Amino acid sequence: MRRSFYSIKKLSRTAACGVLVFSSSLLVNNNNIAHAQQTPPTSLSYTDSVLLHQIAKEVSADRIEQDIRTLVSFGTRHTLSETESETRGIGAARRWIKEEFDKISTECGGCLEVFFQTKVISGEKRIPNATEVVSVIAIQKGTTDTNRYVMMSGDIDSRVSDVMDSVSDSPGANDNASGVAGTLEAARVLSKHYFAGSIVYAALAGEEQGLFGGKILAEYAKANNWRLKAVLNNDMIGNIEGVNGVINNTTARIFAEGTRNTETADEATYRRFTGGEVDSPSRNLARYIDLMADRYIQNLDTMVVYRLDRFRRGGHHRPFNDLGYPGVRIMETNEHYARQHQDLRTEDGVVYGDTIDGVNFNYAAKLTALNAVSLAGMASAPNPPADVTITGAVQPSTTLSWKPHDDTLTPPINEQLKGYKIYWRLTDAPQWQFSKYVGNVTTATLENVVIDNYFFGVASVSQDGFESPVVFPGAAGAFGE
Ligand SMILES: [Zn+2]
Repeated sequence: MRRSFYSIKKLSRTAACGVLVFSSSLLVNNNNIAHAQQTPPTSLSYTDSVLLHQIAKEVSADRIEQDIRTLVSFGTRHTLSETESETRGIGAARRWIKEEFDKISTECGGCLEVFFQTKVISGEKRIPNATEVVSVIAIQKGTTDTNRYVMMSGDIDSRVSDVMDSVSDSPGANDNASGVAGTLEAARVLSKHYFAGSIVYAALAGEEQGLFGGKILAEYAKANNWRLKAVLNNDMIGNIEGVNGVINNTTARIFAEGTRNTETADEATYRRFTGGEVDSPSRNLARYIDLMADRYIQNLDTMVVYRLDRFRRGGHHRPFNDLGYPGVRIMETNEHYARQHQDLRTEDGVVYGDTIDGVNFNYAAKLTALNAVSLAGMASAPNPPADVTITGAVQPSTTLSWKPHDDTLTPPINEQLKGYKIYWRLTDAPQWQFSKYVGNVTTATLENVVIDNYFFGVASVSQDGFESPVVFPGAAGAFGE
């Protein structure tokens, strides 16, 4: 995050990004001038959580390394590779992942529901013949609000230069054994704790062949009426060396789409007059994770990217976004294209291939810890406010209203609720800048804050200080019931 008052103290970190220092300083000054007229500079207040610091510390780079090595040892994890062998191919890999989730569950007294999610796919460009696409899913049920879910995912399958080559060695160490290993490790750490909401850990299949595993799980979530509030898809979280020579283990990217794919024409018209282009729930999920990095992960600054994904490229958060669920892609900042989707070879002195030596385990652990604290924070927080509305045209004040949740939901799902917090920011600021706790009410007015000049949102706060993501008013920002 940059360009906000409270990031002034973080400019030294931004300094790592070279040229950005200059523009950041300039923009901070501009904001100071623009803002001095109305609201004094403030920092966002928050309750520092001992639990989240502990969770961040519990993530082990050694265990992540072990798991990446095991996944690489299956030779190839191509979706069309063989399924009978116990040592090679996608079948062996998914059975091992399930065993790991089962082990984790045994250690927490059966706290995970672990299952294969299987669908036979055929007649597709990259899956022409009938093939079982099998994801491995583990669910940690919440203690009070069991039907509210947050999710972390990685992809099991790997590929080389020819996307249909199912026999050549395809280690997929960074793409995406790193994401699966991170997901397993997050399950190991978080399963030792209790949360109000449920957490899904997903090792998704068939990504390289066309995002099949994500599509199957997203449809399953819809069919089962999951109140799915966040998808944290991890795809390549271990490479710190860019193909351009940049080496940096202190930044990560969070890709988040703009307007919702499911937005109707009426909703788009309303948004045109009220805003929301940069405040989809996916974006506010990204801002939430960005703040988690600042507060709980040392030496990590995330770059929220206002895109669905990399330019013309894809990932498994998309099938969830397709159905309207908030979801982001978390990944390294510096990609190494010679280490992605490549036949193992040396050509003109350049070594190609996604091998284990391209993975930095401490960095993968750092991004895993970021996932873990974000999942824990959201699963501990109350339900995000529903039906948020805003008024204030031609007045010197702004009023927000909301509902704790859909009144028809039973049992009462917000037992841990303490109250609500209003957030606002200048319209060109990337991150929330100001907040005010307003108590356990369902409407609040900010006096002398002009609606035209800011974007607003509201978050719910638990008794012990955990907050939901900020919900922007209207359909554009809704996290659902
Ligand atoms: Zn890939």
